[in-house]
Amino acid sequence: GTGPGEPGLLPGETVVREGKAAILFPSANEVFYNPVQEFNRDLTCAVITEFAREHLAQRGVRILVPGEKDRVVVRLSEEKNGTEDQEASEQPEKERQKEEEGDKKEFITASVGERCEQGLRVLEGLAASGLRSVRFALEVPGLKSITANDYSAKAAALIARNAQHNNVSHILQARQRDASMVMYEARGKKERYDVIDLDPYGSPSPFLDAAVQAVSEGGLLCITCTDMAVMAGNSGETCYSKYGSMSIKSRYCHEMALRIILHSLDQRAAVYQRYIEPLLSVSVDFYIRVFVRVKTGQAVVKNSASKHALLYNCVGCGAFHLQRMGKKMSQGKHMKYSAATGPPVGPNCEHCRQRHQLGGPIWAEPIHDIKFVQKVLGAISGNPTRFRTSKRIEGVLSMVTEELQDVPLYYVLDHLSSTVHCNTPPMLQFRSALLHAGYRVSLSHACKNAVKTDAPAGVLWDIIRCWEKSNPVKRERLSETSPAHRILSAEPTLQACFEIREDENPQANWGPKARAKAGGGISSELEDKRKQFQGKRKKPITDSSQLKSLPCKKFRKVRPLDYNICSVFRIIGTLRVALLAVVTKLVSI
Ligand SMILES: [Zn+2]
Repeated sequence: GTGPGEPGLLPGETVVREGKAAILFPSANEVFYNPVQEFNRDLTCAVITEFAREHLAQRGVRILVPGEKDRVVVRLSEEKNGTEDQEASEQPEKERQKEEEGDKKEFITASVGERCEQGLRVLEGLAASGLRSVRFALEVPGLKSITANDYSAKAAALIARNAQHNNVSHILQARQRDASMVMYEARGKKERYDVIDLDPYGSPSPFLDAAVQAVSEGGLLCITCTDMAVMAGNSGETCYSKYGSMSIKSRYCHEMALRIILHSLDQRAAVYQRYIEPLLSVSVDFYIRVFVRVKTGQAVVKNSASKHALLYNCVGCGAFHLQRMGKKMSQGKHMKYSAATGPPVGPNCEHCRQRHQLGGPIWAEPIHDIKFVQKVLGAISGNPTRFRTSKRIEGVLSMVTEELQDVPLYYVLDHLSSTVHCNTPPMLQFRSALLHAGYRVSLSHACKNAVKTDAPAGVLWDIIRCWEKSNPVKRERLSETSPAHRILSAEPTLQACFEIREDENPQANWGPKARAKAGGGISSELEDKRKQFQGKRKKPITDSSQLKSLPCKKFRKVRPLDYNICSVFRIIGTLRVALLAVVTKLVSI
């Protein structure tokens, strides 16, 4: 919240409190405090904390996170009584031994607000008021130094005052430079930063070349993009000039935006024999945010071409195909690289015969490191009072852990149905139909009603065709060249089964159900369940005898309630079509 009345304020100044920080703002600039971004800053504190926990363990430092008391208590009681609690016994034996060996070593502990000599060096390139950096100093343990830089002299002075006001001047230094120059000067191996955070108003693209060089080996880049219109397809040519990738208008535009910034980062890193490992990539509100590790290695950089893909998107029905930029094959101990062959699509879409747009290249590899995300999620769930937006972080991260990691992009259910002008099947039934057909399916944190699946577009259209048979669309109203007409005039080659699967549960791992251990992933029972389901989904059904053994033998089974809902939709649909016809007639008169 904001409020005057703090001692030591200049005339007209206000104090904004967020997290553990109390930040001075000149009243005139109060617009520059963006409360919506509190989630972004909370999430960043959570991610850097987990990164510090991992990274500093190698340097013999154990971090103490405020609120994580349970963990310490468990360890103490273990040492005293030698008894194993349940949490400990759930761990695999090897991992436990490793941890115990670690326990025997002399660990230095690091607390928040304390300068840690072996700790992380952090740079915030575009720090504005310094709010984010002050929060790091007060809330993230294991930091050696934070450089909060801003090009504006006023901002740099404000940062220095805020460091003083929050008693963190021993960790936090204000600088007034061009952010790129600060990073270029830190390219030397000893000068590099362990964490670089860039949170610009707009595009971070001018800073990326410096950032991929100035981050230490295995270090963390945290990057925000707020130029979503450009990245989501409103001006592909601008996107290309900034990120080296054509954005196209599409239903999956939010995940595409994430894959565009990852593409840009990896490509710029590759110039310097470096490569990225995405830890977490989220699309929230009006911006996207990626957390990536940067490493060095010529051999891995050779794989770069095969990690990026061109994107073919049908303008009629939205069917999409990816084409990797290069081919990689293992030959014994060696890798063989060659040009890709293609294209994967003809000039016209096989489903609706409209043309394709070309987008990309985009990052085609996983956009999260699920093990890492589970650690962040576990720490938050076990310590929910640490951040004001903990609940939302839990929600987003739970969703992220459910996403199919090896399937780029997604379809959107109501877009599939609106393409053929039929009513929208309930998500559960549609997902079940995909599972019954032997494919995997998940939601996406980036879009409501997303259908992320390894099923080809043809299967999705077959399921929609089957759905339409019991929820018919009036064909005479469809133009013969429309995608709807062309898709519906083909017969489905599979019989969709819409009976809800028992293992179909979009809430698995969602929210409070994913009880978590502090700093250590979701509880193993749930983890096992998740693996179990994913395992089931991974096994495609290859012959019809397997299909017969499935519980559903009828073409489509619905409960009376579902049927009623369907009828209501159908009536609404019919009314809408009738109304449209009347309006069209009136207009023509
Ligand atoms: Zn199409």
